[in-house]
Amino acid sequence: MVAGETIVGSTGRSRADVGIRDGRIAALGTELDPAGAEVLDATGCLVLPGAIDAHVHPIHAEDLGSTSEAAAFGGVTTLLHHICVEPGQGLLDALQAAREEGAGASRLDFGLQARLTEVPRRLDELPAAVGMGVRSFKPFTTYRSRGIMTKDGDLFRAMERISALGGLTLVHAENGAVIDVLEAHFREQGGVSAEDYPLTRPPEAEADAVNRVAEVAGLAGAPLYIVHISCAEALDAVVRARARGQKVYAETCSHYLTLTADEAMPNFGTKAKIAPPLRTTHDRDTLWLAVRDRRVDLVASDHSAFSEEAKTSPTVNALDVGFGAPGTETMLLLLHHVARWGVVGKRRSRSTSPMESIASNPPRADR
Ligand SMILES: [Zn+2]
Repeated sequence: MVAGETIVGSTGRSRADVGIRDGRIAALGTELDPAGAEVLDATGCLVLPGAIDAHVHPIHAEDLGSTSEAAAFGGVTTLLHHICVEPGQGLLDALQAAREEGAGASRLDFGLQARLTEVPRRLDELPAAVGMGVRSFKPFTTYRSRGIMTKDGDLFRAMERISALGGLTLVHAENGAVIDVLEAHFREQGGVSAEDYPLTRPPEAEADAVNRVAEVAGLAGAPLYIVHISCAEALDAVVRARARGQKVYAETCSHYLTLTADEAMPNFGTKAKIAPPLRTTHDRDTLWLAVRDRRVDLVASDHSAFSEEAKTSPTVNALDVGFGAPGTETMLLLLHHVARWGVVGKRRSRSTSPMESIASNPPRADR
């Protein structure tokens, strides 16, 4: 039994004790009899429902076990892992391996989502993947050099098939062709600094891809889920597709709600190299408002943790550093804390950033 706490649920706050039996909530109330129960005194604490982090990558420095540990420390109780299926690798083989790894190592409930590449040879594997319980598949409209970019025709075929199977297509939407040209341009100049890295993946490239992918999904009659929306223009493209009557889900991430390129890139360097990149205060505030009014359906972490060395090696330029940053451990804390400190809805009128607010006002349960 967890006693003496304030429970925060979808309808507000209330005071109650929580009775737990066999790992499940068995009773809620102010007069629960603690006889025979182990009692955890949570006076002064808030008790929240466990969060679902619908977008994590158990790769690089991590596996399904360590990702679940980080998530558990952050109040997450269920994870949806994005499983990397490399070109040439079997989709079902990759999913089966991940399921076995997770069954042995994960400390949390989890589900799997599959990266979708090489669409023509994958289509026949999709029904069996759905049969395994995997219903979300994620093609990319970028990363041609890594061999994982999907052409529009293949995207269309994949969306039709996935939709017919009752699944959902998740898309990493950035215009990869334009980004390739920008990257090549910077490479010719000798590389790019961390501060200039966001210039290689501009918001227009993201918005264009979201718009195009949404139009293709409309043609395919398929529902669509856009992962990690980072900017106002991309959100606009989702809103336009919804106005046409399409089912389009919008995800943003905790880092786009708390960090901006201006602040983070000079401070954190390539550790803050993610894709899409961090954007502006306008984008951050627009996304907060969209979380509030539900234009954004959910917030995830896009957790993708490298070793410190891999993200900070001084010998490489920012173009050669991998994409991704950790986040599942801090996602829930950041969302609650920044929201409570009144960032939501204010536009450029504050003198301190959310991150500075957090640093100077560490979270206290009784505040
Ligand atoms: Zn991701």
